Amino acid sequence: MSMDYQSPLRLRLDKQALLSNYRWLKEQSGSAACGATIKANGYGLGAEGVMEHLAAEGCRDFFVATWEEAQHVEPGLGDGVSLSVFHGVRPEDMEIALASRARPVLNSPAQIARWKAANGGPCDVMIDTGMNRLGLSLDGLDMGLFDGLEIDTLMSHLVSAEDDHHLNDIQLMLFNEAKKSIKANRYSLANSAGICRGTDFAFDLTRPGIALYGGTPTLDAELNIQAVVTPQAEILQRRTVRGGESVGYGAEFIADRTMETATINIGYADGFARIFSGSGAALKDGARLAVIGRVSMDLVTIDVNECPSLQEGDWVDIDYDLGYTALVSGLSQYELLTRLGHRFERYWV
Ligand SMILES: *Cc1c(COP(=O)(O)O)cnc(C)c1O
Repeated sequence: MSMDYQSPLRLRLDKQALLSNYRWLKEQSGSAACGATIKANGYGLGAEGVMEHLAAEGCRDFFVATWEEAQHVEPGLGDGVSLSVFHGVRPEDMEIALASRARPVLNSPAQIARWKAANGGPCDVMIDTGMNRLGLSLDGLDMGLFDGLEIDTLMSHLVSAEDDHHLNDIQLMLFNEAKKSIKANRYSLANSAGICRGTDFAFDLTRPGIALYGGTPTLDAELNIQAVVTPQAEILQRRTVRGGESVGYGAEFIADRTMETATINIGYADGFARIFSGSGAALKDGARLAVIGRVSMDLVTIDVNECPSLQEGDWVDIDYDLGYTALVSGLSQYELLTRLGHRFERYWV
């Protein structure tokens, strides 16, 4: 891409909304520090921008999934700001990990042995309290494993904090038990939904992700969290379709009268799923412009009967309210954000 390329597809990112969400999550975290999970490129928003804005707001702890993600954000990591890598260290990661300021979150006896053998320095440790995904099993855990390990943060991850699931209290109890026997500088259990369960879950440090970005895992969050992300697409062509003619692949939509349509620069390759063929819409000045016909790889056609002045080169917002869009699409709010692709020009306002 040449330097002055201007994308016909943008992701508008609202900085004040991000900061407001962070402040709310921090307040809900009580006396615990509030970190930020910025894995998967900041849930699709762009990890560097998210980190920059939240660090300026006082956030001191960031979390990514892999060392590639750590390498991506480390140049922007300010003094006194910490970065943790959830997936720990594979043998292939060791060289990068040892040269990095980021700490691995060690998940297995093998990872711990590897880190100790390399004199890796401060690390985090994940214990399993019910997720059965990553983390040390507490069953028959050999406490000698931790000898000589400098644990900054001991953490565990909640299975179903967004629901009143019986596992929440079991996980809380198991984590409190583990806290008594495993020595660390700090303890951390809560993701976004975990924060909404109250300060018993907050310990020393919380790790919200989705709610920072406008996701609403709980009713509490729905009432307090602001939307951050708005996809915006440019109109590439406007046309009149006559009654009886079809629009798009498979001729699935047939106009029952003469109508005005516009074709916009977004498609399923950008994350705008084919399921929105039936339910999606664009928004312009309060008007809801329904998607008609099938969503293509790079294009979508919308009904613009209500907007006589809209023309080629104009922009429309995509209706992407996370709660509602998840409901009508069957995709989770996490998927809706992380699937937004690389063709968006991301910009903060
Ligand atoms: C993704 C993740 C989080 C953030 O979870 P949200 O539900 O997005 O708030 C926190 N901790 C761990 C270990 C994670 O994998």
